[in-house]
Amino acid sequence: MTNPEAQQTRNVFVGIDIQNDFIDGSLAVNEGAEVVAPANTLSAEVRDDGGTVVWSRDWHPKETPHFDAWPVHCVQETRGAAFSADLDVRETDIVLSKGMGQTDGYSAMEGVGPAGQTLESIISPESDERVRAIMLGLATDYCVRSTVLDSCVTFGDNPDVDIIIVRDGIRAVNIEPDDEQRAMQAMEEAGAIAMTSEEIRRAFF
Ligand SMILES: [Zn+2]
Repeated sequence: MTNPEAQQTRNVFVGIDIQNDFIDGSLAVNEGAEVVAPANTLSAEVRDDGGTVVWSRDWHPKETPHFDAWPVHCVQETRGAAFSADLDVRETDIVLSKGMGQTDGYSAMEGVGPAGQTLESIISPESDERVRAIMLGLATDYCVRSTVLDSCVTFGDNPDVDIIIVRDGIRAVNIEPDDEQRAMQAMEEAGAIAMTSEEIRRAFF
C-alpha cells in the first residue's frame, strides 16, 4: 500500500463531444448548450491547477454504418463537428478524435490525439500519484455513458483513480424517457462518483 499522504493528486478534465451538431445541429440534445458553462468553469479550474484538459469529439467520415442508426452528424471539418463557439478550448488542451473509421466511436476511450495520445494513457497514474478524472458533456445516455463505463472497466481495480461525473454538466437524448436515469444508475454502479460542479469546486479546488 502506498501512503496516501505522500501522493500527489492530478486532475484530468474530460469534456465529451460538446459539438455544434449535439447542441443546435442535426442531433441536438435537449438543453445541450447548458453543459458549456460547467465545462468552461471546471476545465479552467483543472488547467489553473496544473492538470490536463481533454476534449473528445465525434469525427466521422462522410459515409459510415454509424449513420444507419443516426442522422448524419459531426462529419470531419464541417461546422457541425466543430466545438461550440462558446466552449473555451485552449491550444494547450488535448483533443481526442473518435469514430473516424467505420465504427460508432461512442467512447472517448477509443479517441486518439494529434500525438497519438489516448484517454487511457492520459489518465494512467504515475507511481505515488492519484488521478481524479472529471467527466461531463453530451450525451449522458451515449458517449458520456460509454466513456465513463469504459474508464471504470479500465481503471476500476486501480485505487489511485477516481472517475467523477458532473451531474449538471451532462444532458441526455432520452429516446426512452428513463434512458438518462438508467445511464446514471449504470455509471454509478460501475464505480463512478456523481457530484455537482459546485461540489467539485468546493471539494477539490
Ligand atoms: Zn457519432
